[in-house]
Amino acid sequence: MNRLSDVQRQNVLDLIAAGYSNSAIQRQTGITRLTIARYRAGHFPAPRTTAGNEACRNGHPYPENQRADKNGWHYCAACHREKNRRWRARNPQRAQPDEMAVLRAVQGDPPDRLTPRERAEAIRQLTRKGLTVELTAERLRCHRNTVKRARKRLRAAA
Ligand SMILES: [Zn+2]
Repeated sequence: MNRLSDVQRQNVLDLIAAGYSNSAIQRQTGITRLTIARYRAGHFPAPRTTAGNEACRNGHPYPENQRADKNGWHYCAACHREKNRRWRARNPQRAQPDEMAVLRAVQGDPPDRLTPRERAEAIRQLTRKGLTVELTAERLRCHRNTVKRARKRLRAAA
């Protein structure tokens, strides 16, 4: 996303105040209607962190806190950590796999839906029993490739 310059932003706000529609402003400025609608609703996007900044918007110094996600967007690792910490404080108990669902799945009567974690646990148990990929997939009613991927992950974790 390209951030609007201050001039562009003021221009959009002036046009909104002058009573132009979002489409009309888009035709004039080339700025998308979605962005214009956000400005109209009073949302002013905070500046995005960029490579040139000396700190993130919360003051964590760059570049030691700067990371890029797999799409190339920069983010602040310190903010990311804090956000995760807040999330964990709000959610003290992580979701646990349903033992009964795993047991049923291992015995060949899986419930309609297994969570990924329950399925992985069932695959682990069946693999330990020595079942083939095909039999495991049949028993859990999932695809062979799902079993293969899960086994690969188990080997990697071991
Ligand atoms: Zn930060």
